[in-house]
Amino acid sequence: MAPTTLVDRYGRTARDLRVSLTDRCNLRCTYCMPAEGLEWMPTEHSLSDDEVIRLIRIAAEQLGIRQVRFTGGEPLLRRSLEDIVRATAQLRTDEGKAPTTALTTNALGLDRRAAGLAAAGLDRINISLDTPDPEQYARLTRRDRLDDVFAGIDAALSAGLAPVKLNAVVMPGINEDAVPELAAFALERGLELRFIEQMPLGPREKWDRSQMVTAEQILQRLTERFELAPDAEPRGPAPAERWRITNPATGRTGRVGIIASVTHPFCGACDRTRLTTDGAVRSCLFSAAADEVSLRDAMRAGATDDELAELWAGAMWAKKPGHGIDDPGFLKPERLMSEIGG
Ligand code: SAM
Ligand code: SF4
Repeated sequence: MAPTTLVDRYGRTARDLRVSLTDRCNLRCTYCMPAEGLEWMPTEHSLSDDEVIRLIRIAAEQLGIRQVRFTGGEPLLRRSLEDIVRATAQLRTDEGKAPTTALTTNALGLDRRAAGLAAAGLDRINISLDTPDPEQYARLTRRDRLDDVFAGIDAALSAGLAPVKLNAVVMPGINEDAVPELAAFALERGLELRFIEQMPLGPREKWDRSQMVTAEQILQRLTERFELAPDAEPRGPAPAERWRITNPATGRTGRVGIIASVTHPFCGACDRTRLTTDGAVRSCLFSAAADEVSLRDAMRAGATDDELAELWAGAMWAKKPGHGIDDPGFLKPERLMSEIGG
């Protein structure tokens, strides 16, 4: 009998699917990509629209997936993104509802696409912004495009894609001082802000465990300028620990989250499965290449929906209990974040 959920041997059930729609990007964030970019995947290696939609349908209708997040690389570079969102929003999950659709984006070009994405059925959006300072932004992303991000944020708000969330990675000596500036920026605009500890998924020389900015240090910087109280809502599988935050200077209140993927891993509550641009299942960001299962190859060899569901369930069953970043034998994955889908 075909499987009906994606469970692993440690009792976790995947409900959240992350789909990478391209490995390409128009920024070069220093923690994610080398300045020269990467050798992009040949188009024929990537899943076609029909292939990606078929796999999302199998995940939602046969395997218990309830949320689909589109990522990359930069997912706005996929011209058919609106079509893929629309097709996903028409599916029905095991609860008889449309899956929640979400997008993680750097927001370049979002000003022209936000309304169309909302009309296609997009429910949520996370915009990556590591600093509101133009110079710092240009140094961090190696591109002078901060105004495009601001325009994208405004367009997302106008399109009703609420709550608009901001994601910020904090890098030692680069944007640490932007932590309170970002919080003030987010509070002013009614955006929920989430800080992410930098993970070893970028260019090799860019990560050093002893140098990274920890969740505790981020919290410390916030409490110097804002009032924080733990959020009352239960956290569930959500990776961010959340606080209610008030800016005493303006009286603005909001929410801020910190994702301590390195110092307080949340692997025990992880409910994710991932599809890479070329159609491989990865049950963890940190899986080894040898643990990937290519649904694309099976699909192109004529596999049925049930056979693909079996393969996916088998890949999930083998999911490791944790990412092991702190283990002495930890090996950085061969693929970078932009290839896996963050
Ligand atoms: N290009 C889109 C964007 O930047 O939002 C989507 C893909 S990006 C890989 C997804 C998220 O991963 C972004 O929020 C980015 O900041 C984060 N990210 C990339 N490299 C990271 C790293 N080494 N550690 C932690 N987060 C990282
Ligand atoms: Fe591009 Fe996103 Fe990576 Fe930045 S974090 S280089 S925007 S894929």
